[in-house]
Amino acid sequence: MTVSRGRDFLALPGPTTVPHEVLQAMQRPAVDIYGEELTAVTDSCLDDLRRVFRTERGRTYIYIANGHGAWEAALTNVLSRGDKVLVLESGRFAIGWGEMAEPLGIEVEVLEAEPRRTVSPEALEQRLRADSAGEIKAILVVQVDTASGIVNDIPALGAAIEASGHGALFMVDVIASLGSMPFEMDDWGVDVAVAGAQKGLMMTPGLSFIAAREAALAAHANAGLRTRYWDWTVREGELHYMKYCGTPPVHLLFGLRKSLDMLFEEGLENAFRRHELLAGATQAAVGRWSEAGALSFNIPEPAERSPTVTTILLDEPQLGRLLDWSWEVCNVSLGIGLGPLGGHAFRIAHMGHVNAPMTLGTLGAIETGLAALDIPHGKGGVSAAIDYLGSRLKA
Ligand SMILES: *Cc1c(COP(=O)(O)O)cnc(C)c1O
Repeated sequence: MTVSRGRDFLALPGPTTVPHEVLQAMQRPAVDIYGEELTAVTDSCLDDLRRVFRTERGRTYIYIANGHGAWEAALTNVLSRGDKVLVLESGRFAIGWGEMAEPLGIEVEVLEAEPRRTVSPEALEQRLRADSAGEIKAILVVQVDTASGIVNDIPALGAAIEASGHGALFMVDVIASLGSMPFEMDDWGVDVAVAGAQKGLMMTPGLSFIAAREAALAAHANAGLRTRYWDWTVREGELHYMKYCGTPPVHLLFGLRKSLDMLFEEGLENAFRRHELLAGATQAAVGRWSEAGALSFNIPEPAERSPTVTTILLDEPQLGRLLDWSWEVCNVSLGIGLGPLGGHAFRIAHMGHVNAPMTLGTLGAIETGLAALDIPHGKGGVSAAIDYLGSRLKA
């Protein structure tokens, strides 16, 4: 017997739920790609992305690619073969970015964080001070690691780079955090930021975004890895067509326009607060479930847990049973563990177009599954989530 009917629930950290308004904005005929309407959409999206990245004078670029494409675009626009990058490991995704760099002939050094902890600003500063020859050309880090569920302290890392006096470019992946938590490109000294459409930005997969500030644009002038398709200079060309180095992704742009409108309508600060509250509710439930020992947080330090995704440790065979059960019996699709966490964890996304009933519903389905499958867990996780939200939202 199942209680599965109606709408499927994506509780994955990407792709996330796409609002109806965004889907509707894409439901229309194609338009002239040289016409005023589409050119205006491009211009307004490029401008508004600056507002989301929080950069006044940085340049923004839109790629018809997923996040991996934008990773490659970021690398090829500022680096040359033989350059060295320092990857700040804190889970899976910064390592993945480094793996994109290696085949390009970039030397990759990994600075490892303590297991299940954020990148240490002190360790970064120390490593940069030791690089007196300035061999490190760029530092690659994620704000949120979607696999481990950790959130790195980007302003503290920026301050560490500044204190070291090192000139490496500070390149930050905000794919799982932009629009969902504070990010201040200018104030935090970030030179290149990389984002994707299908996480906090509530869009279908298929677009990714880069913002680049002065130091990155200066490095771009001499970068040896530039290729025509990704090249920022080519994309600064006069013709609208060149902004995409070919046919613009017409429908995706109409969708993006709508999703940005929705984000500004809510207000960035309100969206951040909503994510914080829904993450807090999720953590309240997981904290309660953890009391019986079978489940636990992957990230032990509460302050280091992401406001967009929660990673929960649970071993096989219970893990597989729970994931199958939530999908087959309740239409809830949870995130699986990635990399070394494969077979040892699952993930709950609270990212993008989510509200209280969606999060509470997801938590309720999981708790029902824990009960139905006799997986030992502390009772009352959903109640704890409700108490948390109730106390935070008291009139
Ligand atoms: C999802 C994700 C990526 C990869 O993006 P794709 O669109 O799947 O290529 C990179 N970094 C982070 C932090 C992510 O969450």
